[in-house]
Formats: sequence, structure tokens, C-alpha cells
Amino acid sequence: MAENIVVGAGLAGLVAAINLRRDGREVVVLDKESRVGGSPVFHPSAGGTPVDFEALERYIDLDLSPGKVGPAVAPIKRCGAVVYGQVVPVDMAAISGHLFERGPRSTSIDSYLYGLALEEGVRFEFGRAVWSNDDIAKMPPDTIIATGLNFEGFDATRTPYLTSFHFLARQTIPASDDNHVMIYHGRYTRDYAYTSSMNGMQMAHVFQRDPIGGDTLKAFEEQMYRTEGIEFDSWEHFTFPVPAASRRNPRLFAGDKILAGTLAGCMESYMFFGMHGALVSGKIAALAVRDKSVALAEFELATSSFAPAYFLKKLTRPVPHALHKRQLKLALPMLSTSPRAGRVMMVAMPGWKNCER
Ligand SMILES: Cc1cc2nc3c(=O)[nH]c(=O)nc-3n(C[C@H](O)[C@H](O)[C@H](O)COP(=O)(O)OP(=O)(O)OC[C@H]3O[C@@H](n4cnc5c(N)ncnc54)[C@H](O)[C@@H]3O)c2cc1C
Repeated sequence: MAENIVVGAGLAGLVAAINLRRDGREVVVLDKESRVGGSPVFHPSAGGTPVDFEALERYIDLDLSPGKVGPAVAPIKRCGAVVYGQVVPVDMAAISGHLFERGPRSTSIDSYLYGLALEEGVRFEFGRAVWSNDDIAKMPPDTIIATGLNFEGFDATRTPYLTSFHFLARQTIPASDDNHVMIYHGRYTRDYAYTSSMNGMQMAHVFQRDPIGGDTLKAFEEQMYRTEGIEFDSWEHFTFPVPAASRRNPRLFAGDKILAGTLAGCMESYMFFGMHGALVSGKIAALAVRDKSVALAEFELATSSFAPAYFLKKLTRPVPHALHKRQLKLALPMLSTSPRAGRVMMVAMPGWKNCER
């Protein structure tokens, strides 16, 4: 039997590969890096997201219980938001907020899924970059492309995107179970910034959908130091594409190829939560190899909130900082106290509705 090709050994690609193997197919995963864990510029990292594990594991058919994933995933213990200098407590329990370790370390979700994929008999070829539309065109039908937040994948599949601009820093800290996230809103970004820590790693990330300068970083650094006393020695500056709403996005198919993960538009477009959608979309991509119309219906449900969330973000972006501050001061306490407000955020996550059924 010919091997099914999956390009990208990230969240979506690994879930797709495991599910294809379980369908009795031969699978090879190609990744441009020399090992699992994605780009060394992006990871290791500690990313936060709402996630209902029981529902998610039922849907993607993988055991994500703490006894299995170990320290790769953990509930957020301490969370708050800094709204233009003022700290507002946020209760993540209302939205089941969790942290995922991403990257090549043995304690990451990538390593956990990679281990599962090897057990299932998936074959991997690392150091295999797919750069262009020509490369993709030469691949057999039903190849799954899941290259994540990289320009080449978006360009090669002609998927519309916006460029986002980032500063990221990380450092090791004494290991503890004080998993934390602090979200920052202020004049330094039109989107947001955060600090997070888990598994003896601490990081800070500030970004927006407009170019971002050194002054911005300095203002965020000062706020972070005043609030949490955290400092970093050095910062990485980079850009990456984020899906833009259009006729060609979100989409499951690009010609006779199948898209998965962020490249398929499975990223929530308000806060940029992408991990939940990527995991769900891996399952849908594998299903698309077996049954295109069932997979398409699942995909449409998974991404039904993408366009509304995208346009809401577009609408609210130009609001002056003073109004933004007032909105946040109203909205954030609601998120902590009202299950309804939490639910609005959760159903905006790609794949959440699929898992809920
Ligand atoms: C710094 C950072 C912080 C983030 N924080 C959060 C967060 O807090 N919460 C959240 O929900 N989401 C967060 N995200 C988004 C989330 O990580 C992504 O949406 C999610 O990982 C997408 O999954 P994926 O499977 O599509 O791609 P990835 O998991 O990124 O996997 C893509 C894989 O494809 C490989 N690849 C790339 N290009 C090629 C190529 N040309 N040829 C072959 N292989 C290739 C990569 O090496 C990688 O292994 C963050 C992203 C970044 C970069």
C-alpha cells in the first residue's frame, strides 16, 4: 500500500498521522526540522488555552489524561490580567484554562504525541522541508499539509494571511507546580502580551498585527517588571502568518491535498488560540482521507466561529485605548464569574463544538 504523506510533525500532523495508522494506512511524516518540536525560534514554549480534555480526547481518540501526558499539560493555577497597569484577577477554572508545553523537550505535548505515533508505527523523515507549490503539487492526492505558522506553507497553498509581529523571551526558573499566566493589555500592543511558566520554564511574549518596535518592547518590559518583577536578558524578534478570513480560508482542501491545523484556518482569530483547533483538525484531516463529505461537515462545524470572530476583532481593533480599557474592565470580571461569558469564549475556539457533541 502506498504511504500517506503528512507534511509537518506538529499538533495537527501528529494527530492526523496517528489516526491514519489506526485506519490501517502506512504513514510517513515529513518535517523540516531535524527532530520533533517545531521551530527553535518559537519553542520550547508554554502556551495557554481553554480545553475540555475529556471531550477533546473522546473526539481525537487519544488518551490525554494526566497519567499519560505527564507534565506536558497542566491546569493554570494562577492567572490575572494587567489592564493598562491595573491588575484584574481572572479565574481560569471558568474556562478550563490549561498550559501546554510545546517544543522538543521530553516534557512537551509534541514529544508525547510523537511517542504515540512511533508506537502506532508512523514513519518520520526529519530535515525534509516542503517549500513551494511545485513541491506540494508533486505529492500524491490526499497528502496532508500541516506546516503551522510558517510563511512557506501559506504561500505554497496560496492561503491568505496577515503578518503578525512578535517579541519572545524565555529562561529557566526553579521547577515548581506554580503554572501561571498573566495577560497584559496596554498602549504597547493592539493585541496583547503574556507571561507564562510551567516545567521550570518562564516566557514572555508580546505581539500584534502591526509592526512592533523597540519602544513597544521597552514599555512592556517596564510594565512586566512593575507587575511581576520578571526580567529577561534577551528577546527574539520574528514574524509569522496568521489566517485571514476569505473565500479561501478556512478550508479543508487545496486542490487534491488536505489542509490541517493553523494552515487550514483552525486558529481562533481573537486571541490566537491555535492548539485546540490544531488537535481537532488533525483528526478531521485523517477522516478526509477516508470520507471527504463527512470530514467537510466536521470541518465546517469546527471552523464556524472563525469568520465572526475575525470580523469582531477587525471591528474592535481601531477603538481608542481609553475605550478598550473600559471594555476590558467590564469583560474580564464577567469571564471569571459568569459561566455564560466563558462559554462565548470557548465556542469561538475551532473544534470546540465538535468535541461538545
Ligand atoms: C510563539 C508561539 C506562541 C503561541 N502561543 C499559543 C498559546 O498560548 N495558545 C494557543 O492556543 N496557541 C498558541 N500558539 C499557536 C499554536 O502554537 C499553533 O496554532 C499550533 O501549534 C498550530 O498547530 P499546527 O499543527 O498547525 O502547527 P505546528 O504545531 O506549529 O506544527 C507545524 C510543523 O510543521 C513543520 N514545518 C513548518 N514548515 C515546514 C516545511 N516547509 N516543510 C516541512 N515541515 C514544516 C514545523 O517544523 C512543525 O513541526 C502559539 C504559537 C507560537 C509560534
